[in-house]
This record gives sequence, C-alpha cells and structure tokens, in this order.
Amino acid sequence: MKLIGAHVSAAGGVFNAPENAAKIGANAFALFTKNQRQWVAKPLEQDVITAFKARCQQYGFKSEAILPHDSYLINLGNPETEKLEKSRAAFIDEMQRCNQLGLTLLNFHPGSHLKKISESDCLRLIAESINMAHQEVPEVVAVIENTAGQGSNVGWRFEHLAEIIDQIEDKSRVGVCIDTCHTFAAGYDLRSEAATEATFTEFDQVVGMSFLRGMHLNDSKGKLGSHLDRHHSLGEGEIGWDCFRYLMQASGFDNIPLVLETINPDIWQQEIMTLRSFVNNK
Ligand SMILES: [Zn+2]
Ligand SMILES: [Zn+2]
Repeated sequence: MKLIGAHVSAAGGVFNAPENAAKIGANAFALFTKNQRQWVAKPLEQDVITAFKARCQQYGFKSEAILPHDSYLINLGNPETEKLEKSRAAFIDEMQRCNQLGLTLLNFHPGSHLKKISESDCLRLIAESINMAHQEVPEVVAVIENTAGQGSNVGWRFEHLAEIIDQIEDKSRVGVCIDTCHTFAAGYDLRSEAATEATFTEFDQVVGMSFLRGMHLNDSKGKLGSHLDRHHSLGEGEIGWDCFRYLMQASGFDNIPLVLETINPDIWQQEIMTLRSFVNNK
C-alpha cells in the first residue's frame, strides 16, 4: 500500500497533526513534536500523549506511517565539543518524545562539518551520536535524510549515508529518508522514469533499499546538481511529474511514509489525489 501524506501543522498541540492529515486525504504524515527552531521544549504531558494516540487510532495512522522530523538546530556532526553535546542531548530528547508518543521513526538531517573537520570525521561523529541515542532510548529508528549538499552539509552523496550506516551498531534501528528535491539538487537525475529508476538502482547498490524508511516528495526550484535546497510544488519545478509517477508505481516505495513538503499547503489535497491516481494497486 502507498502511504501518502504531508508535513502537517502541529500548532496547538501534537494531537492536532493527525486531524490535519486526515482532512487532506492523507494516510501518512510528518510533524514536529516541538518547536523546530528552539533547543528546548517543555516535556509532553500525559493528556497530550493520550490525545495524540487516540487521534492516530481514530484516523487509522499506524506508527510506520508517521515520520516525525527533528529540530533544524541539531548538528550531530558538529566539530565543536560543547555544541556537539548540546545537539546530542537535544536529539535524545527528540527521540524520547517520539517514544512517548508511540512513534518508531525519527527523521533528521545528518549534520555539517563547518569546514573544520573532514567529511569522514563528521560522518563518524554522526554515527557515534546515533549509537549514543540508541543506548538512551529504545525502539525508535534513526532515519537519516539525504541533503542537497548546501554549505558544509554532509549526507548528499549516497556514499555518505552508507558510511554512517556502516558505523551503526544496531542496524535494525537506522534508516534513510530520501528527499527528491535534495537528491536532485545533489546531482542525481530524476527528470524521467528511466532516470529515476537509475538513481534508485544506484541507491540500492550503495545504501540498500531495505534501509529506505521514508520519502519526502518535493519538486525542486534549483537545477540538477545546484546544491540548492529549494522545494517546489509537484510538477512545477525542475523535476516534473515523471519521477513521482514512477515512485507511485514501483513496489519499493510501498508501506513507508511518502511525505509532501511542497510549498503550497492549499494544494496538498490535490497533490495527494494526483499521486494516488498513478497508483496501480490502490
Ligand atoms: Zn528535512
Ligand atoms: Zn525533506
């Protein structure tokens, strides 16, 4: 089954997210479990947790269809010790929040070397950070998102993702989220069904499709290899519809959250309907 949704608002409380997703015809969704631009948040209260779980059950969202995203401030590969420790503590807190909400995935951007350490050293710090979080929190899978490679961000080449995964002790609790905009901006062509298939064949060879735990479906304002992280509505950017038609028809993308982060929430419902129209086995 194709689990299609969007990164919906959790304003007013995380329990509003499942309702916001159901309203646009989604059977998957992403959310922030705290303000994504702040380091600390007050702990989740029991009645909030209960309400979230009840709404998820009411609307039929299982944990494998929900892809929470962590704060943008966290850099698990930060070369400066103090800042790295702050990031690691915040990441563990994010993972704990997921665990409390009954969620089993946590999507995050791998990190940046800030031009102070090598790419490989940065990837090693990120892997260490994930191993540490695994020690602290049970069950939640660390889902590494590929990046556009803007600035000093690592994780834009599939080889970077593989290098992190290689150093993870519990491989059952690490996965990858492929963002189509980031992939394209990083230099992997997605402009036709054949190009998309070739890109995912390469992904399978370098990382392995078994690690794919979610996707972000975004068109791209930036050109192929531009390293620009600029999302666009589906079909309106440089990628075009062929890629998304392919993803809806290929079985490798079944039963994982396929999440829109496109720029116009007013047309998310329409985008989901169009994506669904491509699915052979609805
Ligand atoms: Zn992201
Ligand atoms: Zn994304």
